[in-house]
Amino acid sequence: MSWKDNLIKIQPYTAGEQPNKTDFIKLNANENPYPPSPEVIRAIREFNGENLKKYPNADAVPLRAALAKRFGLECENVFAGNGSDDVLALCFRAFFNSGKPIIYPDITYSFYPVWCEMLKIPYETIPVDENFNINAADYDRPNGGVVIANPNAPTSIGRGPDFIREILDCNRESVVIVDEAYVDFGGISALPLLNEYENLVITQTFSKSRSMAGMRIGYALGNKEIISALFAAKDSYNSYPMDSVAIAAGIASVEDEEYFAETISRVISSRERLTEGLRAFGFDLPDSSANFVFAEHPKYAARDICEFLKTKDIYVRYFSKPRIDNRLRITVGTEEEIDKLLDALAGLK
Ligand code: PMP
Repeated sequence: MSWKDNLIKIQPYTAGEQPNKTDFIKLNANENPYPPSPEVIRAIREFNGENLKKYPNADAVPLRAALAKRFGLECENVFAGNGSDDVLALCFRAFFNSGKPIIYPDITYSFYPVWCEMLKIPYETIPVDENFNINAADYDRPNGGVVIANPNAPTSIGRGPDFIREILDCNRESVVIVDEAYVDFGGISALPLLNEYENLVITQTFSKSRSMAGMRIGYALGNKEIISALFAAKDSYNSYPMDSVAIAAGIASVEDEEYFAETISRVISSRERLTEGLRAFGFDLPDSSANFVFAEHPKYAARDICEFLKTKDIYVRYFSKPRIDNRLRITVGTEEEIDKLLDALAGLK
């Protein structure tokens, strides 16, 4: 027996490639092409670096208060962490302890199975239909918890409140997490359902609609008991997941509603142009409710297109996985980036 036998054996999540060069178009990680609000940049610039000698506010109270105000909730209904990946991992740890398998779609965010492996949570996946739609009735079965990304990733399909309600109605006894990482780009939030369903938790992030992927801020909204279980999980793992700079910058972002709305509408209008442009080239893609599209070409293999685009310094995301291995996930970039992408695709042979 060697120490090597005791190292973790897990297939970790693979994030979008980060090429080691500067002059390229990065459409592979669903980042926002626009900078964060000028107020965020100002908050960082004006942050008194001397204060770094002290620990941050352990429970990120000032940021949670700003979020609570924005959503019309109490601070006790909000948990904040180091990116929504951190928050989701804590949710899995805090809510899925029944020993029964949790359920989520077969095509969804590929971090879910990794957290299950890591935390030894049994799980079952439920196939989406041939158009990548989730059938809510399929979730009416015994389970130890439910996770639904809405809009879903990488499919980009967003569903309305009746869909989440249907899932909640048949799952009164387990926690239902709705991962709304992309909801601000025209999706419909389950927020109004929080009053009605005490087992609902919503997670959101500053990485996409708030252009702050590099800062790592995510949060969960839910009833007080749910949120206090998250704090118990956090305080058994890392007391200070959010640093002081992130808390200050996060508040500045939340308080600049105008910039937030403006950036989102730019991304949405570029998304519509990208969608039309790709369809004009013969790509098949569902209408997107996110800041990315999920496209397939009947003539060209997705992997080949992905490699071809790399030769033009354009990076998109390809998943070598059953059911989606002929699809590309393409992030909505600036207008100029979309032009370059469409120009490059015109060179496909
Ligand atoms: N949920 C989904 C569906 C995502 O695609 C992502 C981004 N990879 C996340 C959560 C996590 O984002 P972050 O940790 O940057 O908040």
